[in-house]
Amino acid sequence: MLDLPRARDRMVNIHVGRRGIHDREILQAMREVPREAFVEPGFEEFAYEDTPLPIADGQTISQPYIVAFMIEMADVKPGDHVLEIGTGSGYAAAVMSRIVEQVYTIERHPGLAETAKRRFEKLGYRNIEVRTGDGTKGWPQAAPFDAIVVTASGPGAPLALQEQLDVGGRLVIPVGNDPDLQRLLKVTRTGAATYSEEDFGGVRFVPLIGEQGWSENGTVTKVGRPLRHPHPISLPDMIAAAAEPLPDFDDPAFGALFDRFADRRVVLLGEASHGTSEFYRARAAITRRLIERHGFTIVAVEADWPDAAAIDRYVRHRRPRTGAGAPFQRFPTWMWRNTDVAAFSDWMRRRNEKLEPSEQAGFYGLDIYNMSGSIGAVLDYLDRVDPQAAKIARERYGCLTPWQHEPSTYGRAVLTAGYKKCEKAVLEQCRDLLARQLDYAKQDGTDFLDASQNARLIASAEHYYRIMYYGGAESWNLRDTHMFETLEHLLDAGGPNSKAVVWAHNSHIGDARFTEMGVVRDELNIGQLCRQRFGDEAALIGMGTHSGTVAAASDWDGEMEVKQVRASHADSYERLCHDSLVSRFLLDLGRDKTLRERLLERRLERFIGVIYRPETELGSHYADASLPQQFDAFLWFDKTAAVTPLGPEHARTGVPDTYPFGL
Ligand code: SAM
Repeated sequence: MLDLPRARDRMVNIHVGRRGIHDREILQAMREVPREAFVEPGFEEFAYEDTPLPIADGQTISQPYIVAFMIEMADVKPGDHVLEIGTGSGYAAAVMSRIVEQVYTIERHPGLAETAKRRFEKLGYRNIEVRTGDGTKGWPQAAPFDAIVVTASGPGAPLALQEQLDVGGRLVIPVGNDPDLQRLLKVTRTGAATYSEEDFGGVRFVPLIGEQGWSENGTVTKVGRPLRHPHPISLPDMIAAAAEPLPDFDDPAFGALFDRFADRRVVLLGEASHGTSEFYRARAAITRRLIERHGFTIVAVEADWPDAAAIDRYVRHRRPRTGAGAPFQRFPTWMWRNTDVAAFSDWMRRRNEKLEPSEQAGFYGLDIYNMSGSIGAVLDYLDRVDPQAAKIARERYGCLTPWQHEPSTYGRAVLTAGYKKCEKAVLEQCRDLLARQLDYAKQDGTDFLDASQNARLIASAEHYYRIMYYGGAESWNLRDTHMFETLEHLLDAGGPNSKAVVWAHNSHIGDARFTEMGVVRDELNIGQLCRQRFGDEAALIGMGTHSGTVAAASDWDGEMEVKQVRASHADSYERLCHDSLVSRFLLDLGRDKTLRERLLERRLERFIGVIYRPETELGSHYADASLPQQFDAFLWFDKTAAVTPLGPEHARTGVPDTYPFGL
């Protein structure tokens, strides 16, 4: 049974309040008006999703957030007389009627106007007058208005509506020629014949059809007020002016562009997909520079600790761990078993060869999925340094054994069978190991770091898989917190002057507080935690692309495919970068204050992970974000290509037995 009042409250708090609408009257009015009474029969269960829904005559009831946003822009107050053009379902008029003295609303479709009228009567909303007609001509008999809200998009702001504003009155209207994207405009009457204009960014509405709007066939019937462009230079032009073109990856000038971040403790390098070669090569070029010139010694990546440890052994010329299976055998194998990562690890190995162990750069994994690999590594370590402790550890980890290889079923077992939890056992094991740090580390500090990090991973992973079945933000937050804490342990182990480069997806690196993740879903990430811990000593660098190919699967555990990346969405940051016509660039978001301000307003941003579903791209891969708050800099590659996974054709002879990518 749907708890609609609860869903309504949640919608107001999360989709409206947390996205920046703070006007109490609006929030209260939205808590009061039952949106389920304004949707078509059968759509009630979706009434509190933050999305527009279809209504009769091919029209829509607007998204709740946009309704709130437009009412806030119109600055409506108790006592006001307000005109709405485009009654539709009547929902927006109903919300405004809970705030102001009188609402007048006009709808061109008689059926919609009639239905809305009946809804108002049923709910006892008596301060709304509905009329069927062409709203572009306004409602002269009821003018002047304190505010006019138009919920359909026109070619300009109709003159009749401007003239029916009181002095100080506000007209809010979407305008523009593109059916997929218009600008939300606010026109304020400042005097008898004077008006000011503000632009509130991209929106998408159904067309305003009428004498001072569009004709039925889409052409302009009569020109409204010509649009004065509020900003003299377009955003893509401003991006082009600020863009610093990127040289070839192998050109030292590429890395030199990032010297500006050399004094940071942590430089985090994102990626907009897990299967794009340019993102890996850019990160490799930047990291080479930071290691060679600026004393960075930690490369911490979004891979599982025990798997990355195999690369670490290779790049630092250490012997292989006995009994360890081949790394990176689990889905998604191409993410680390690819030609770009192999080339980078070869570079690290060559460079480390000439150096003392303390000066070498290491390669570490931050992620928690490979629990069975970690259990093997802890047992192997204890077998060598303390066989008695190994026996106890075997017993403790035995609790997890049935699930080691399919840990995602562990959470289900805990939930359904009230199964004895392994939590206590794995935590005790981790604590024991850490308590003996001094004894063990005397034998070999690096090995101890490896084993203790594996023990921590097992404890986090046990928790992660236990709560995964509850869904929601908690398991994501646990994973990102574990990744951040692993990074902290690495920095601590490296001493006060240690510096790290992090490679992970944009969704982990871009500060979550400025994306839908944090705003709507309460999720945090490594980027946010680094900023909170290191302040200006952390640099968050994102990456993006317009089109090309990407290596990704269609489903979890599916085969890797090389997929075409769709051209970026018209209302995305990616499209702004594409329209700059600069094919590869660095955009330093801290340099140009005006550009930063212009980019602040939230837009769509594309996130492709190990799965890419172009067919449902808008719903499954785009989210709202404020780019200049999310990142300190952004790298752009207009056209990109899929990574090349390591296959039999890459088999090498004569490689050391630590080579992590053997076949
Ligand atoms: N405010 C509505 C709600 O809360 O459900 C949503 C309105 S819908 C996005 C836009 C409406 O504007 C449609 O119902 C459409 O028929 C109407 N419309 C378009 N041109 C119009 C015009 N010239 N006069 C009056 N209504 C118009």
